[in-house]
Amino acid sequence: MESELKQVSESVFALIGPQGGTNFTIIKNRAGHAVLIDADIRRIDEIEEALQLAGCSRVEYLIDTHEHFDHTSANFYFAQRGIPIVASSGCVSAMREQGGPDFERMMKPVPELYERFPGLCLTLPDVQFTDRTKVTLPGVTLHLDYRAENGHSHSKGDTTLYFEEEEVFIAGDLLYTEVHPVTFFSNIPNWLSSLKTLFDSHYKQLVPGHGPSVDGEQRGRAYFRKMHDYLEDFYGHLQEIKAGRESSDELAQHMLSGSYRSLGKTRMVQRNINQF
Ligand SMILES: [Zn+2]
Repeated sequence: MESELKQVSESVFALIGPQGGTNFTIIKNRAGHAVLIDADIRRIDEIEEALQLAGCSRVEYLIDTHEHFDHTSANFYFAQRGIPIVASSGCVSAMREQGGPDFERMMKPVPELYERFPGLCLTLPDVQFTDRTKVTLPGVTLHLDYRAENGHSHSKGDTTLYFEEEEVFIAGDLLYTEVHPVTFFSNIPNWLSSLKTLFDSHYKQLVPGHGPSVDGEQRGRAYFRKMHDYLEDFYGHLQEIKAGRESSDELAQHMLSGSYRSLGKTRMVQRNINQF
């Protein structure tokens, strides 16, 4: 399976990860200057190819939607090229406090990348914001909003982006479409609150952190609701397990049946339950 480079609007290109792999988004202005949203060093060739296919002559900013390795591990690569990296202070402090061991663990299966990129290491964003900020290029106004409820929803850094000129909303990992989410780094009740604040957001196109992009606000709303209801259901069952009224096998079976049957990345279900 290969990633798909999808043109979401005139200036927005989403590199949709295969089988629910991480999405990366490129916003390009008329001069060919780009803002890149999230980047994983394991997929840097794909990202470089996507930038080329999208017609970008240079990257002006890299934005991290949150601290997880699959969204931030190419920070080193772009920092070396002098590109500023923007993230919420929640994201930066999570990386500073817990990012090191996570980085090493995730790099274990791909040691060859240390040879290819000498000095490769966890690299913190160098531009931080607290609640909201704007990143602009000529023709591009990008609104960044920190969404981690009480500092921790899907992650500690959760940031959404809204590209004003073309009404594109980039949700980061607060939203997964058509695939099971990763919940074991999360505070699920807070994540539910964050999702509620997104039900009424406005956009023409919606790009989730994982899974296909969504055309139109109505369909987008349905996906935000589905995400909310999935997490609420899952969390309710986790409480039943805690109380000894349900087994983890029963929950796994439930999360793989009914309306969840069509969701991809099914291996996440057992991991989400085990790590709880
Ligand atoms: Zn994540």
